[in-house]
Amino acid sequence: MVTRILPTEEAYQLLDLTRELADGELAPRVADFEARAEFPREVVRTLGRAGLLGLPYPQEYGGGEQPYEVYLHVLEVLASRWLAVAEAVSVHTLSCFPVFAYGGDELRKQLPELLGGELLGAYCLSEPQGGSDAAALATRATRDGDAYVLDGTKAWITHAGQADFYNVFCRTGGPGPAGISCLFADAATPGILPQPAERTMGVRSSPVAQIVFDGARVPVDRLVGAEGVGFRIAMQALDSGRLGIAACAVGLAQAALDYAVAYAKEREQFGRPIAEFQGLGFMLADMATQVSAARALTLAAARLRDAGRPYSTEAAKAKLFATDAAMRVTTDAVQVLGGYGYVADHPVERYMREAKVLQIVEGTNQIQRLVIARSLTR
Ligand SMILES: Cc1cc2nc3c(=O)[nH]c(=O)nc-3n(C[C@H](O)[C@H](O)[C@H](O)COP(=O)(O)OP(=O)(O)OC[C@H]3O[C@@H](n4cnc5c(N)ncnc54)[C@H](O)[C@@H]3O)c2cc1C
Repeated sequence: MVTRILPTEEAYQLLDLTRELADGELAPRVADFEARAEFPREVVRTLGRAGLLGLPYPQEYGGGEQPYEVYLHVLEVLASRWLAVAEAVSVHTLSCFPVFAYGGDELRKQLPELLGGELLGAYCLSEPQGGSDAAALATRATRDGDAYVLDGTKAWITHAGQADFYNVFCRTGGPGPAGISCLFADAATPGILPQPAERTMGVRSSPVAQIVFDGARVPVDRLVGAEGVGFRIAMQALDSGRLGIAACAVGLAQAALDYAVAYAKEREQFGRPIAEFQGLGFMLADMATQVSAARALTLAAARLRDAGRPYSTEAAKAKLFATDAAMRVTTDAVQVLGGYGYVADHPVERYMREAKVLQIVEGTNQIQRLVIARSLTR
């Protein structure tokens, strides 16, 4: 059991509730839903009703008003049971950011439904021709009377076809970041066409697909902030989102470590539990150290955010380190189980497949290194 130091008594209660939900609602279902590649919409709704879909936002808008640090502990616990569900919480929380931080009074009236989890959100930045170079995006929004007409294609959109609303980053002006805006689009808008889900390596119960925008008319009052601020909104949302991905990585790595330790204590070779061989014990020790270091870096960045200090470089470091650690720890967990690690009877092969995506989403780890390097030489 991980020893956690939380800022309030309320936070301890929240973590107890999260563990209860993770053990009772997530753990029994994950294997089936992953095998069927089915999105657990009802499970996500249950988390919404328990107040877990709007944790870091103010209560006046229907959020949980928790420090970001506490929200990340919650995500970590969820991810240790079912990464796709933790990702759903993380992506939804990220998707509420544009309207919360930049929306006018009218748009903000939507927040209670978003933060209460009745409506599910998605964040549409990446496109088929480029994810890393997001400022080159080509999806266009052309003003026509009281609406913007959206044309283009987004790629790799988590919750495509399941979400109730899409934050669509689109071009309303010239080339580069200054020409980008953000539209808060209702998923039922004619001309918004989610494509069939991709067949992914892992997190198969998390739907990911392209979305084609074919003359979709989005009312002008759905513009978030103003024309031209979309890129800034997208990047600020990602700073917070990257901490969510880091917390997911810590939870996944912790699950792999726990499973590997339990197995190594039971499995015997040469007449002794394999945990007693120093070669294996050192491997477990390195895994445990990686998990602790990843958690510490992630929570340190969250505390900066909670204190209102700049945190985007620290968030990039946390995302980079925690997701690389998750890849290494889950790969080592497979090794600890030997041949049994390579088959689906044990969850560690799934953990290893799942870790990979965390090194790619919300800015690949090469892009995190770019962010960190730029901060050093600025
Ligand atoms: C399962 C899944 C879910 C996703 N969910 C979402 C979502 O909800 N919303 C969304 O908008 N996007 C989402 N994405 C997209 C994700 O953010 C992109 O895949 C990612 O940003 C990389 O973009 P790309 O795939 O186009 O790769 P590319 O940008 O083509 O990169 C290819 C390779 O080149 C490297 N590279 C690129 N530029 C540089 C550089 N300057 N220096 C060094 N190396 C570089 C990259 O690191 C990578 O290794 C998701 C992706 C996946 C796989």
